[in-house]
Amino acid sequence: MDFSLTENQGMYVDTVRKFVKNEILPQVLHLDKGHGFPWTIISKAWELGILNLCIPESVKGYEVDVISAALIIEEMSYGDTGISTSAMCNDLANTVIAQHGTDEQKEMFLKPFVDSPLLASFCLTEPGAGSDNSSMTTFIQKGDDGRYVLNGAKSFITNASFASQFTVFCKVGKPTSQLLACVIVPAPPVLPEGSNSCVPPPKEITLPGGGRILIGKPEDKLGQHLSNTASVTFEDVVIGGHQIIGDRRLGFRYIVDALDFARPMVAAIGVGLARRALDVTLAYTKERKQFGQRLCDLPVVRDTLVAMWKKVELSEMALMKAAVKVQEKAPDQGIYASLAKNVAAEAALFCANEGLHLHGGYGFMSEYEISKLVRDAHIIDIYEGVREVQNMIIGRELV
Ligand SMILES: Cc1cc2nc3c(=O)[nH]c(=O)nc-3n(C[C@H](O)[C@H](O)[C@H](O)COP(=O)(O)OP(=O)(O)OC[C@H]3O[C@@H](n4cnc5c(N)ncnc54)[C@H](O)[C@@H]3O)c2cc1C
Repeated sequence: MDFSLTENQGMYVDTVRKFVKNEILPQVLHLDKGHGFPWTIISKAWELGILNLCIPESVKGYEVDVISAALIIEEMSYGDTGISTSAMCNDLANTVIAQHGTDEQKEMFLKPFVDSPLLASFCLTEPGAGSDNSSMTTFIQKGDDGRYVLNGAKSFITNASFASQFTVFCKVGKPTSQLLACVIVPAPPVLPEGSNSCVPPPKEITLPGGGRILIGKPEDKLGQHLSNTASVTFEDVVIGGHQIIGDRRLGFRYIVDALDFARPMVAAIGVGLARRALDVTLAYTKERKQFGQRLCDLPVVRDTLVAMWKKVELSEMALMKAAVKVQEKAPDQGIYASLAKNVAAEAALFCANEGLHLHGGYGFMSEYEISKLVRDAHIIDIYEGVREVQNMIIGRELV
């Protein structure tokens, strides 16, 4: 077993580290407070080639291996987990097409992301169907002309206000059907605005092929202010056969495949945040003096710093094991993806909370980054499957 990075992986890490140091960290607190969308940063990430990691080479994408993708997302998350959530969601939405689409579908639905800095949304969650996504009611129904019509409402959808394409999971025939399909709904392209502060209004998109998409007001979130989250409602959206991915009865399998790829990416978000929390806390406790010495020299404080470091290292190991398993398409990849997600979410929460504590009263002040990291950390334990759902997956495999 070799823990060293390949030359290519090392290059990715160096590139994203520089990007984070120059483009994200100097302005992250200011941008986070503004609640705008970081278009400039997203465009620069696209230019650098650190967006759209899963797009196959056959359509001129980067087709980055899973380990490199995890390293890129971890480094980006060290800068800001809202930005990395936005970036990662493009892959979450597009990996279904990369994994199960035909060559024509890859050309039609993935190539635009290679050509321009566009964003995509992955539409699974609904108001009444969160952890239990089998209870979703969004559905497609075949009309007399042989085409399908899509109706239903999705909630908490990342990138929704700026998405140029929606990957939508839906029932087939009626809302209570047992069959699930995945359909791709392209929308008019939304191109980056030249600023980091765009706040979108709710909007209504009339599709040339028929039907409407309604995008809700961006959610006012506790944390990850630099990712956009909104509801998406599909009203009589006409779906041609070419928009249905794979077999229209195998949607559940496609969800599992997408999440097996994406959960290590969420773990990478957790590891990146945990590392950042450790670093800002180390810096603070080396500066701050009480009882005549640096905080970091007080034995109890040092114990806490050690405990934080252990969480970072262990979550990084769990992440790398999951990335290797997913890369190799190992039969037990799911259990390791869930393990990595749980362990990294725990590390992020632990390091952010303990880090804030070691900042004392200053940690409670919004000008200290640690307070933002605490707000950002909570969602890592929730999106792409809450902790209990990961435990359910692990438990099912174990017994
Ligand atoms: C910022 C943000 C971005 C998101 N982005 C997307 C996106 O891009 N696309 C998308 O489709 N969704 C997205 N989501 C939705 C997210 O994946 C769901 O919120 C998540 O899966 C949990 O669903 P829920 O919120 O309905 O919680 P619920 O399912 O209602 O769960 C609430 C709580 O109940 C408990 N619970 C639930 N089920 C079980 C169980 N089986 N056993 C034990 N306890 C249980 C857990 O404690 C859980 O935290 C996003 C959410 C947020 C907040």
